[in-house]
Parts: sequence; structure tokens; C-alpha cells
Amino acid sequence: MTLTDPTQALAELLAGNRRFVTGAPRHPNQDAAHRAAVADGQHPFAVIVGCSDSRLAAEIIFDRGLGDLFVVRTAGHTVGSEVLGSVEYAVSVLGTPLVVVLGHDSCGAVQAARQAARSGSTPPGHLGAVVDAVTPSVRRAASQGVDDVDGIVDIHIARTVEALLDNSAVLATEVAAGRCAVVGLSYRLAAGEARTVAAVPADVPDRAGSDQVAAVTG
Ligand SMILES: [Zn+2]
Repeated sequence: MTLTDPTQALAELLAGNRRFVTGAPRHPNQDAAHRAAVADGQHPFAVIVGCSDSRLAAEIIFDRGLGDLFVVRTAGHTVGSEVLGSVEYAVSVLGTPLVVVLGHDSCGAVQAARQAARSGSTPPGHLGAVVDAVTPSVRRAASQGVDDVDGIVDIHIARTVEALLDNSAVLATEVAAGRCAVVGLSYRLAAGEARTVAAVPADVPDRAGSDQVAAVTG
């Protein structure tokens, strides 16, 4: 399956999540024949820029298999240059039509950034870099009167969507040309459900049959 339409790609991804949520996964593209079929080349239909949380395994929660998803994960889905380069590779070289930012409730990176903002002290070592990258989302949430972790998570997901587009001219060009979309999904650990919280262009989730979504605003 080679998908080139952002709307179809999002619909496919959300359909897999619905199978996972309802306990009826099909585990597609995980057999030996498919493994052999994709060995010569990959055409993933979605890039997942997700949190590294061990409960957020992309192929499981979207019920997909080998060759389907191009996955880049960091704690708190922070976006540095290696992440941007990986996204640009998938979008411009592999022709992947959809980039998804995948965050989740009770995110430890968001909790750490919220705690650091309160205490005024940053964690030691490279943990500080993760906290620093999430802190602007905590500040934006505060400016909107949002202080609960899951509320901050959704704002951080939307801000990550913006950050990808602001910092990657390659991605922005693909999106402007209609060849790619960037969508933020907020995942619930207990329910297993991924809900759309941000999208560029804004009408992609509607066309894909997703829940209503507010457009990303600066
Ligand atoms: Zn997390």
C-alpha cells in the first residue's frame, strides 16, 4: 500500500487506532511475506514524531506493521535538528504524506517542565535540555490559564506542530503544496485513544473523519 494523500493517510492511521481501542487489532504487515516484500524499499504513509514513553509504541497503538510508519521518538517529542532532519528525509525523499506529533496524558517530560517552572531549578545533565525544550509550552499554557498536566500536554502538542513547520522550510513547502499535512494527536494511556488537537491544514482531520479540531493558532 502506497498512500500519497494526507487525508487518506490520516484516515488509515485513525482506523488502526480504532481497531486497537476496540480490542480488534488485525496486526497487518507483520508476516514474513510482507517483511520480504518491503526489504527492497520503504514507502511509509506517516511519520510519527512521538514521545519516547514505553506505553506509546506507534505500530501497536495504530495497529500497523513493517514499512508503514517512520517513527522518531524523543522524551516529550522535543524537536531538535536531528529530529527535523529525520522528518525531512521521510517527507522529501520517501514521499510520506503525513506527519503526526504524538503526545499523551501524564507525560513525564511535561510534568518535569511544569515542576521546573514552579521550582525555578532545572534537572541535571542532559535532562535539562528536554525540560528547556518543553518549558515554552508550559509558559504558553500559563498565559492561557492552563495549569493541569494534560491541558499543558495538548498545548505542547500544538506547539510542536508549529515548531516543525516554523523550523523546517522543507516540510512547510510540502504542506503549502498540498502534498503533506501535519497533525497533532493526543493519546490517552488507559483508553488507548488518539484524539486530534491540532492540524495544518486545519480541515484535514474533518476530511479524514476525525473528531473536530481547532486550527493551530500562533
Ligand atoms: Zn511523554
